[in-house]
Amino acid sequence: MHESILKGKKILIVEDDLSSRLYLNKILEKTEAILLNAGDGREAVEFVENDPGIDMVLMDIQLPVMDGYTSARKIRELRREVKLIAQTAYSFTGDMENMYESGFDDFLIKPIYSKQLIEKLSSWFNRDPDI
Ligand SMILES: [Mg+2]
Repeated sequence: MHESILKGKKILIVEDDLSSRLYLNKILEKTEAILLNAGDGREAVEFVENDPGIDMVLMDIQLPVMDGYTSARKIRELRREVKLIAQTAYSFTGDMENMYESGFDDFLIKPIYSKQLIEKLSSWFNRDPDI
C-alpha cells in the first residue's frame, strides 16, 4: 500500500456501538491517521472544543445523550472547516436534507466496507487546494 493521504490526519470516530467502533478503528489504523474516539454526541462536541487539531469527524447518527444531527450542528458552529462525515443506517437516507442542514459534508451508509471508507475519507482531503 502506498502512503495514505490520511496519514497523520486527526480523525474523531463517534460511535456508541463498541463492535462498530473497533471495526472502524481497525480499518483506519492501516492509514496511519491519528484516531480519537467518542461514544456519544456530547462527548464529540467536547473533543472538538478541546482539540483544534481535529481534521475530520466520522459521526454516527443514532447516538445516546445527543444525536448525530445535533452534535454535528454544534461542531459546525465551533469549527467551520472541519470535515464532517455521517455514518448512517439506510433508513435515515430519506433524511438527507436534515443531514446537510446539520452541517454534514458527506455520508456513508452502513454497513461500511473498508475500501469504501478509506476512499470516501481520502476524497475529502484530496479536495484541499494545497495538497
Ligand atoms: Mg449508534
